Amino acid sequence: MGKFDLYKIQLKSLLEENYSFQYELNNDFFEKIDSPEVQKGSVTAIVTLSKKANTFELNFVLEGVVIVACDRCLDEMEQPINYRGKMIVKFGKEFSQEDDDIVIVPEAEGEINIAWFLYEFIVLSIPAKCIHAPGKCNKIMASKLRKHLVLDHDDDENENFDEVDLTGEDNETTVDPRWDGLRNIINN
Ligand SMILES: [Zn+2]
Repeated sequence: MGKFDLYKIQLKSLLEENYSFQYELNNDFFEKIDSPEVQKGSVTAIVTLSKKANTFELNFVLEGVVIVACDRCLDEMEQPINYRGKMIVKFGKEFSQEDDDIVIVPEAEGEINIAWFLYEFIVLSIPAKCIHAPGKCNKIMASKLRKHLVLDHDDDENENFDEVDLTGEDNETTVDPRWDGLRNIINN
């Protein structure tokens, strides 16, 4: 069995009009996906499918938590995930994504693998900034990082870092790799 066989839906061989699938997306799933945004978590995905002629409507409900780095102190934190979305799947010549929510799959294959879609939905539902609940940050790290940033800021006027926000406005979900270096400096 391939790594993601579990997430294949054989559209061509569906006999009924309505189906429901449930997936537990745990650390094992994120390890297999092997993408940097999310590496750990526990999310339940419920996919309901309704078939009308050669069109398939998939509705997704994802709920759970993923582990991400806090933007303020860099410690791991649980980020709740809540996603609801819809996707229309049709048969065509080759795989393509027309709009965000219309996907064409090759009729000859007649199947869709939703593993990567599920992962993308999770990444999409992570807010731009993830910060611990008040009082839950690693105070030592947060204050060391703050001091370091203030010093940096004096040295270089072009760095527009907020004293507290470590990743900046334009960095959506991943921790800027430069902070790994900073963390090493502080820990040593
Ligand atoms: Zn924190």
